[in-house]
Parts: sequence; structure tokens; C-alpha cells
Amino acid sequence: MRPSWLVALFLALLGLAPLVLPEFTITLANYIGLYALVALGLVLLTGVGGLTSFGQAAFVGLGAYTTAVLTTAELPPWLAWLGASPWLTLLAGLLITLAVAAVLGSLTLKLSGHYLPLGTIAWGISLAFLFGTSETLGGYTGLSGIEPITVFGVPLESGREIFYLIWLFLLAGVFTTLNLLDSREGRAIRALKGGMVMAESMGVNTAASRMIAFVLAAMMASASGWLYAHMQRFVNPTPFSLHAGIEFLFMAVIGGAGYVWGALLGAAVITISKTWLQDLLPQIIGQAGNFEVIVFGVLMIVILQRAPDGLWPALARRIPLRVARRVVRPELPPLARRALPAPGEVLLEVDRVTRRFGGLVAVNEVALDVRAGEIVALIGPNGAGKSTMFNLVSGVLDPTSGSVRFRGQEVAGLASRQIALMGMSRTFQHVRLLPQMSVLDNVAIGAHRREYRGLLAGVLAGAWRLDRRDEARLLAEAARQIERVGLADHMFDAAGSLPLGKQRILEIARALASDPCLLLLDEPAAGLRYLEKRALADLLRKLKAEGLSILLVEHDMDFVMGLVDRVHVMDFGQKIAEGLPEQVQRDPRVLEAYLGGVDEKEAA
Ligand code: ADP
Ligand code: MG
Repeated sequence: MRPSWLVALFLALLGLAPLVLPEFTITLANYIGLYALVALGLVLLTGVGGLTSFGQAAFVGLGAYTTAVLTTAELPPWLAWLGASPWLTLLAGLLITLAVAAVLGSLTLKLSGHYLPLGTIAWGISLAFLFGTSETLGGYTGLSGIEPITVFGVPLESGREIFYLIWLFLLAGVFTTLNLLDSREGRAIRALKGGMVMAESMGVNTAASRMIAFVLAAMMASASGWLYAHMQRFVNPTPFSLHAGIEFLFMAVIGGAGYVWGALLGAAVITISKTWLQDLLPQIIGQAGNFEVIVFGVLMIVILQRAPDGLWPALARRIPLRVARRVVRPELPPLARRALPAPGEVLLEVDRVTRRFGGLVAVNEVALDVRAGEIVALIGPNGAGKSTMFNLVSGVLDPTSGSVRFRGQEVAGLASRQIALMGMSRTFQHVRLLPQMSVLDNVAIGAHRREYRGLLAGVLAGAWRLDRRDEARLLAEAARQIERVGLADHMFDAAGSLPLGKQRILEIARALASDPCLLLLDEPAAGLRYLEKRALADLLRKLKAEGLSILLVEHDMDFVMGLVDRVHVMDFGQKIAEGLPEQVQRDPRVLEAYLGGVDEKEAA
């Protein structure tokens, strides 16, 4: 079965529902729609972007209270026009939410690890408290007398009438989110989960991507609040408390936080079982109370153990769906390329760079250079400081002192994203991929900033499918790089399913997709078998012949010797030798460093 048929079937059922279902069921469906819209925001933010928020209910409240106040309160004359129509207050609510989310986001999104969810709890509680204590907002009794929404002169008074509007909003949200996730900006948001370091090194502005996910999620919650206020016709603070925020997160997680349709499933499962349990449990126990909370607690733990990705993927596996592969269109005009520097031009110049970690000097006054068209190796035993050196050059770390010039420009202290845009691209010693995404999509992240039109344009175009041609060109470019490195057979495989050696090659393709003139490879041959190593060496020679320059870290001397033009050797943070491979190989200090390394290994 094709997914589009399933969607058509679902739409048909939705269209018929109000005609046949009893009022009670319609009300339930309305709540499911409202909650699913909030959970959808959490799919984008938490499931895809990896940013956990407990505070979404506060944004629902923001949307609900904005319209409640504007449509019921006596407004000063200069504002009165705003309360004239709920459609205007929807706009007002969305704009206020945008502003509030931008402020809260800039305060909390910088937090890492557990501090981010804690931050969302903090402002979730604060906003809910504000709703409850403010006189203008009606305190704990809330505001009543909210007018119904009118569509083409028809007031949507009953649940049956507002049903279509609620589900229209939800479907618009689903459509927008699906489009966005399928676009360049969506890929950047997905890349957040692979770690900020990787995404930034691929030119992704991670702070902006996080903010986009956060603001969009908040606006979906706010729209849900607007609908809620006009459906209930009154608002009070209870539904916007932290408790509700936790429940929204439950919905997303139980439904499948990584999946757009998981939001709908989760909202349905929780809402229906809650209603059901609220009737059933007091009868069984013989006492009134919110016993369903206990059942939910247990259920949550069981589901997290049995289906940690939520119910949607477990369900989707059972439906025989033929999911269309991405189409690659190689006939499209290729993306513009950067002019390569003239052969022999000094590309990279590192001068007396030092980096300390507390008392440890990981890199001590090291100098090195790479010229255009060269392959240069940085070798040395484990712990010599090679990866640290790479991080200093690529902007992942700032040097304690010293200078790094790339194409004549000082780059020490610049963000890795900015350096990436100048034409330096890298791979990581410990591969950093998005294991569940295809090889194609992983490589496409590398091309994120090619012919980039800006953040806002990217989001809008992505959400409304205006960038399909650009996106297709970008995917064609990714496919070309995958072919270039010889991974064409794995184009549509999940990146995590490849053996380690191929994952390293995939990282090279991703780096190449950014159209670099200098490629930094951190131990590309580690974990490769003999034949794979030879293939890698051939690939690097080919790239060199095409005009690329490569700086590569290796501790396997044999791999380096037949391949590179020059070698820099590091040991204990210092450069101990430099020269042609044959010279370096005979250098007594190098021999000692390496033999020392061997002794150490044998001892261990
Ligand atoms: P190599 O890549 O040559 O094996 P590294 O650059 O990874 O070596 O490490 C050099 C030294 O710096 C090691 O002693 C390592 O423990 C230390 N080091 C690397 N990164 C950090 C860090 N982020 N914090 C503290 N020490 C670090
Ligand atoms: Mg290393």
C-alpha cells in the first residue's frame, strides 16, 4: 500500500466523523486534535532536535490567554480593533509567542545536558504562576465569555462545528512539519542530534536551528491554545500547568517522538485511555480520585522499556507500506563550485600554537603548514596531541596562544562554522553520523551551506515546498560525492548499518559535499582492512589529482609513507620532526617516539 492512500483514507474518516459520531466522541476527537498539535511541536523540538521541553503547556496558555484577554476585556481604543475578531487575536497570540519564545529560547537553549529540561521547567512554572496570579487574567477563576470563532459568518459554537477547524490546523501543522523535516533546514535540525560539534563543522548554525525548532514548537502550542480557548469559551490556569507540560511530553514520547504521526498517535492513546481510566478506576477502587496518573506512570515505564522509540514505529512496521525512496536527479545543473587555490599557494599556516587543558599542555608551540595540492600527514603516537591540533585548526577548540591562518586569513578564535564556510572541511576520529538517516541524507548535511539563501527563507521555503529544486540539486550533489568515494551501492542504506571503515569513507563524502579546498582527515584508515586501506589511499590520490589539499592525522606510518608529500611528527604535544616521508622515517627522534609507543603497548 502507498502511504498516500493511507492518508486519503484517514482524511475521509476525519471528514465523515462529525456526521456519524456522537457528541461525546467528537469532543474527545477535538481534544486529541488540540493535544496532538502541541505534541507535534515536541516531535520537532524533542524527538528530532533532541531538545527536551517540559514547558510547552505554558505556550498553550499564552495563546489561550492572549485571545481571551483581547476578546473579552475592555481594551483602550487604540487596541480595541484587535479584539474585534478571533482571527486577529490568533495573529497577536502567535506574535507574542514568537517574542516570548525568542527570549526564553535565548536564555535556555544554551544550556546543555540536563540543564535544558530543568530550564524549561523553570519558565513553565513561572508562566503558569503568572496566569494564576494576574488580576487582568482573572486569577485562578480565569476568564469566561469568550466568543466562538466565526468562519465565513458562521459561528463555530458546538464541538461538531469546531471539529473541522481543529483538525485543519493539525493537518496544516503535520504538512508543514513533514515538509520542513524533508528540507535543508530540517536536515540541519536533525543534525543537532548528531552533536553540535559535527553540525557546526558542516557549516550548520546550530544556535539558529535550535531556536527555529523551539519557536515553531511554541507557535504550534500557542495555536492550540487559541483553538482551545474558543472551544471551551473560558480559560483558567489549570490546563497550562507544568503537569500538563509533562503530559504533552508523555504524548510525544509514547506516540514516538521522532515521528510526525507519532504525535497524533500519542495524543490519541493518552487522551482516550485517560477518559476511559477516569471512568473505570474509581468504580474498581470504589473511591473518587485521579488514579489514572498511577497507571500512566507504570504504562510510561513499560512502553519506554518495550518500545523506546514509541508506539508509532512499532505500528508502522506492521502496515505494509511502500515508502518511496528519495529520487536523485543527476541531470540537474550542479551546485556552483569554489575556485581552487593555485597549486603551491600556502593554504594553511599554523604558527606556534599552544593549547592547554588545565595543567596539561596538549599542544605546545607547534607550527605546520599545508600548501595547495599537497597531502600532508601529521603523525605521532597516541596522545601526542594530533586530534587537539585538528580541533584548533578547524575551530572546534580555540588556541591558548598562537596563530592559525587559512587562505591568508587569521582563523584562530573563529567558530568552526565560519571556518567551514571558508573551504576547510573535516572528518572525526570517532565518526559522528546520524545512524538512522540514509547515507545520502548524511552526506547532504555537508552541502548545507552551498547556495544558501538564508535562514528564514530556508525555513519558509522548506515548510511550503518552495525549495524542491534547490533541495534536489543538493541531493544530486550529495549523490555525486557518494559516487566519488565509491559508496554508491550504499546510497539509501542507513548510515549506522555500514561497517566502521565505510562510515569513515562516508564522513569523507560528507566533508567533500561542502566543496572544500582543504580536507582534514582524522585517522581515516583506523579500523580499515588492508584492501580498504589501499582503496582509501587511491581515493586520496585521486582527490589530490583533482586539486584538493589534504591534511591527515595517522598513527599508522606504513599507510602514510607511500601516500603523502610531507610529514609532521608530534610527540607529547611537541613537533619533533618534519620533512619528506623517507627522511622522517629515519629520524632517530621519530624512531624513538614510535618504538617508545610500541614498548608502552607491549607493557600494557
Ligand atoms: P592524539 O589525537 O594525538 O592521540 P589528542 O589530541 O587526542 O591526541 O590528546 C592529546 C592530549 O590531550 C591527551 O593527553 C589527552 O588526554 C588530552 N586531551 C585531549 N582533549 C582534551 C580535553 N578536551 N580535555 C582535557 N584533556 C584533553
Ligand atoms: Mg586522535
